Amino acid sequence: MTVFVTGGAGFIGSALVRDLIRQDKEDVLVIDKLTYAGSLESLKPVSDSPRYHFSQTDICDSAGIKALFAEYKPRAVYHLAAESHVDRSIDGPADFVQTNLVGTFTMLDAAYQYWRELDTAGKDAFRFLHISTDEVYGELGPDGQFSETSPYDPNSPYSASKAGSDHLARAWHRTYGLPVLVTNCSNNYGPYQFPEKLLPVVILNALNGRDLPVYGKGENIRDWLYVEDHATALQQVIADGAVGETYMIGGRAERTNIDMVRSICRIMDKKFPGKAPHENLIRFVTDRPGHDARYAVDCSKIEAELGWKQSLTLETGLEKTVSWYLDNLDWVKAVSKDYSQQRLGLGSGKK
Ligand code: NAD
Repeated sequence: MTVFVTGGAGFIGSALVRDLIRQDKEDVLVIDKLTYAGSLESLKPVSDSPRYHFSQTDICDSAGIKALFAEYKPRAVYHLAAESHVDRSIDGPADFVQTNLVGTFTMLDAAYQYWRELDTAGKDAFRFLHISTDEVYGELGPDGQFSETSPYDPNSPYSASKAGSDHLARAWHRTYGLPVLVTNCSNNYGPYQFPEKLLPVVILNALNGRDLPVYGKGENIRDWLYVEDHATALQQVIADGAVGETYMIGGRAERTNIDMVRSICRIMDKKFPGKAPHENLIRFVTDRPGHDARYAVDCSKIEAELGWKQSLTLETGLEKTVSWYLDNLDWVKAVSKDYSQQRLGLGSGKK
């Protein structure tokens, strides 16, 4: 049997694909347009496996996606393909509406056309997992956590487009009976994250003695989830999750951005004592417009119902992440060849 992973050349998708191939069970077809955020370099560790397949296809290409369903007859779809960077959504929201909304519609429509022709056993076994974010719930004050029943209240073009895609996924279950599940997770961190996001920026800038930019005063709070623990959670949801349900996935690790940056600086101090203290490189820069103050995730449902557990503490995960970047500078170089590192998302760019 085959499973589809859309966005499988991206950060979370590639962690999932590497794990699926390692487990030696099913074939995996990665469907990815290879935007700036996707790279086959992240799939190199598994690309020799006869169970790994790749198609460079845009999820908005209805005919192309339908042809892949007809050819590979998947048992399940992990739908991760998306435009994912909030700052880019402020400067250019059109791509977010196109990929996150139209693309998700195209995937659901193609999945439904395929699923309704399956026999009863095939219909019962099929799953479509839509992967989404805790940002669809807006921002929290100092207390409380998001849960599966929190009201939707997205603030950025990114989170609004993801919120819309969650509603489409739910509707394809309620209206057409497609076996859809939805997960909403917190901030992922770990190996193979494109070097425009906070952690890789800080690790790589610290290594090169460059400023460590921190938005506003660095007081925004995020919950941090190790990407490989997330990949495990997604497989558990496909295997044992209840159809039509939503599962929150979080790391139970709330930190302010400035705390995260300081933690990385301390790890870099240990690795490069001659350059300590790396904290001297921290620079506070203009905040992101509409920057949500705090996200926190109550993941007790997936823990209690599916037995999912994290394998790492945030401290261990951060050590592993820093070491991975320092050991994989060739990957960094390969994926960032067209990346200019300019500041994005100040709200002054053209729409
Ligand atoms: P990413 O930006 O690293 O990867 C996205 C992948 O999708 C890339 O490989 C890209 O080439 C591909 N893609 C983009 N547009 C496409 C299109 N039109 N057709 C086909 N492929 C396309 O993203 P990520 O961080 O791995 O996030 C994966 C999913 O998880 C996204 O849906 C995102 O919204 C969600 N999510 C991410 C986080 C996080 O912390 N990274 C948190 C919550 C939810």
